[in-house]
Amino acid sequence: MRSSTINKLASYVDALRPIIYINHFDFKVIDEAIASIGSKTKYVEFNNALGLVDFKSKSPMMECDLEHFLRLTMDDGFEQETFLVLKDVHQELTNPKIIALLKRIAENNVYNDNFNTTIFILSETTVIPKELENYITVFDIPLPTLSEILTIVNDFVKDLDIEVENDTVDEIALSFKGLNEFQIKQILNLAYQDGGRIDNNDKVLILKEKEQFIKKSGMLEIINFSETINDIGGLENLKDWLQRKAKIFANLDKAIKFGVDVPKGVMIIGMPGCGKSLTAKATASLFEIPLVRLDVGRLLGKYVGESEENMRKALRLSEAISPCVLWIDEIEKAFAGVGGDGGGSDVTTRLFGQFLTWMQEKDNTVFIVATANDISHLPPEFLRKGRFDELFFVNLPNGEERRKILDIHLKKRNKWNPEIDSIGLIKETEGFNGADLESVVKDTIESAFIDGRTLIRTEDLIKTIKETKSISNTLNDKIEEIEKTIKKIDIKPASKEDKK
Ligand code: ATP
Repeated sequence: MRSSTINKLASYVDALRPIIYINHFDFKVIDEAIASIGSKTKYVEFNNALGLVDFKSKSPMMECDLEHFLRLTMDDGFEQETFLVLKDVHQELTNPKIIALLKRIAENNVYNDNFNTTIFILSETTVIPKELENYITVFDIPLPTLSEILTIVNDFVKDLDIEVENDTVDEIALSFKGLNEFQIKQILNLAYQDGGRIDNNDKVLILKEKEQFIKKSGMLEIINFSETINDIGGLENLKDWLQRKAKIFANLDKAIKFGVDVPKGVMIIGMPGCGKSLTAKATASLFEIPLVRLDVGRLLGKYVGESEENMRKALRLSEAISPCVLWIDEIEKAFAGVGGDGGGSDVTTRLFGQFLTWMQEKDNTVFIVATANDISHLPPEFLRKGRFDELFFVNLPNGEERRKILDIHLKKRNKWNPEIDSIGLIKETEGFNGADLESVVKDTIESAFIDGRTLIRTEDLIKTIKETKSISNTLNDKIEEIEKTIKKIDIKPASKEDKK
């Protein structure tokens, strides 16, 4: 572990922080750090599976439960500075007796000059009981910096006597950003075993492995898709804007060196079924980077602090796979009512604050695409300039856009033909959204197949259009409400004006 991290940990102990909560999976690394900061310190370890354990040798000394252990060690800090190292005890932190015992030790540490015991809690899950909130300090182990990653890679290469070009090491190290030391070593081993060497092709392997970590975490979802910018009919302003940003992502390193700010992201608000999700996918394909979806609902945990911890992990994970598009769908639902009197819970408000700060301070290559229908319940600070690079409003497609959308879906299914009077169809499809138009094409093709016809004619399409209930019929109230809210904010139209 980095010496600056160890120094920080030591400074917490010196400052009499009574309970230090370390959220990490690699207890060996943490043990080494804790071992290095004590002098003449007595180390006492409790492991949820084994009871009392010898801190040095790790051999079990006495089977007992946590309550018994805490009672046994209650008086330990009087004669000698003591570190109580508790492992995997998060589930015990809802037990009132355990909470009371920990509080007692913590109070002693703070108020009794003759008592000196610091409790370290090591777990992969953060559980912070309300009663201990003021005594617990959550200690974060930062991810390795680029120069530390370089050292890890160089050490690995040297240890195994592998011949690699310096440039390769630099490239590989860059793509390891966002991973911890354990993960980096795991991937290096895999790459080496795979071909007996380390080369630039291993970047693909690194990306695949990063995806694995993300899948396992269950907090973000990797989206596989085939849509491109050409699958979007209309939305020309939005597409032009994205195309400009794509130039930056294509040459990120150069752009940053030139002084360009890395784009933060875009908020796309508007009518249902008009291509917002489609745009999120097309952005990732245009930028040639992975698409990961953040579902805020999935982050909610049952313990105090767990949701915030999950949010932190999820954002960190997105940084790990960056450059990437981080897609937050239906963001208005995730953060509904935050800060207002409209039912947003404390946890959601905190998550929202956390997300805002992250966005504000963001210094990474995660490009956010947030999509929403109705933003009337979203807190206004979310839409303030500086958070997103731009806000776009996606309206129901205008005539020219409807024509293009119909063409795209017909061509996709190889059923477009020049006989189709697409201009004539514009009038017939007034008030249809993209999803309606897609279903018109699908249904028409299905009927043609069932009736044994090979060619799609204008009248076939018109027949289906007449039978289709468009969004303007089914969701009229919702549409009016969205239009009302949009008028109040400074937002760009995603579509170019219809010239017809
Ligand atoms: P919601 O707000 O309901 O999530 P959305 O705006 O995200 O809707 P999409 O999921 O992008 O809508 O669109 C639904 C389907 O409709 C898409 O799969 C696509 O096939 C079609 N579609 C919508 N808009 C367009 C468009 N502008 N061009 C081509 N197809 C479109």
